[in-house]
Amino acid sequence: MSVVTKTFSVKTRGDTDIVDITSQVANALKEAELSNGTVTVFIPGSTAGITTTEYEPGLLKDLPEFYEKIIPRGADYQHNLTWGDGNGHSHVRAALVKSFFTIPFVSGKMILGTWQQIILIDFDNRRRQREIVVQIMGE
Ligand code: ZN
Repeated sequence: MSVVTKTFSVKTRGDTDIVDITSQVANALKEAELSNGTVTVFIPGSTAGITTTEYEPGLLKDLPEFYEKIIPRGADYQHNLTWGDGNGHSHVRAALVKSFFTIPFVSGKMILGTWQQIILIDFDNRRRQREIVVQIMGE
């Protein structure tokens, strides 16, 4: 069993920007030169999430609308009183999505559905440069 850790960075527009990071994760897996195991994709930070969706224009609108409905930007958040940074909704949305996603791989390939991409959702209220950690455990 080996553990290989890689990182890559992504620029986002913030405000529930959804970025397809599948190819960067696949590259990290290729460089690790392992055959079978699991890939964990993690974002250090409490205002973004890692999950999966079909990366197509409809869902890129549906998902932000869904988050706006259940965790509205303009609602009152105690966090905004603590720091005055206005991103209480960003933290609450990120806590719902969570900061990691794990994918099994077999014969060097991730077991993803054809219409299943790995996505970073940046909920922060400003543009960000994000560092993504990819940890591969396998043999
Ligand atoms: Zn904050």
